[in-house]
Amino acid sequence: MIKNKSAVVISSIIFTLITLAIIWHNIKPISIVIQAGHEGRQTGNTGSSLGKIKEVDWNIYIADEVAKTLNKWGLDVKRVGADPKPIKCKVAVAIHFDGSSRVCKSGASIGYPNSKSKALAKRWESNYRAYFPFNWQRDNFTRNLSDYYGYKVIKADKFLVLELGEISCKKQIKWLKPRLKTIAHLIAATIAKEFGYNAYIKLK
Ligand SMILES: [Zn+2]
Repeated sequence: MIKNKSAVVISSIIFTLITLAIIWHNIKPISIVIQAGHEGRQTGNTGSSLGKIKEVDWNIYIADEVAKTLNKWGLDVKRVGADPKPIKCKVAVAIHFDGSSRVCKSGASIGYPNSKSKALAKRWESNYRAYFPFNWQRDNFTRNLSDYYGYKVIKADKFLVLELGEISCKKQIKWLKPRLKTIAHLIAATIAKEFGYNAYIKLK
């Protein structure tokens, strides 16, 4: 009889602990969300392209590399596509490349929704300007940047939408293509600094 009673108590404790673990898993805040722009979209805005080079493929490559690098540095990251379920986090970064009908007139730029994100945007700008040798557009220069659709589903204290260059410009593609990994590491380092982690990225 006593044996049965303690078995009931033990199984109740185990049940409670499992329930609490599941609840915590669902409500615990995530530090970083990395979004690959246009990923998973079949219709609507599926991204820019030039010949065989598609923006979405480059976005996915960079987003994966950023997430992998931040994980390696011990930071918790969620990697999402274009249309994730609603999510909350401290820092969100969406990866894009621009396409322009005025070929080679565009370049890199940043979008962000609030003044809280601005210091982080400026840090990214100074890091990337030291590397990227083409045009810079002013912040939030298109509605795609200032009213980014992701702001509604990804609730972040700080949110950056990065346009990493112009995919409709052959000259920029030629420069960007061999440097995608380094660019991803530079993004990861910029984000990690927000969480007190200092990484040095050799720009090659
Ligand atoms: Zn895009």
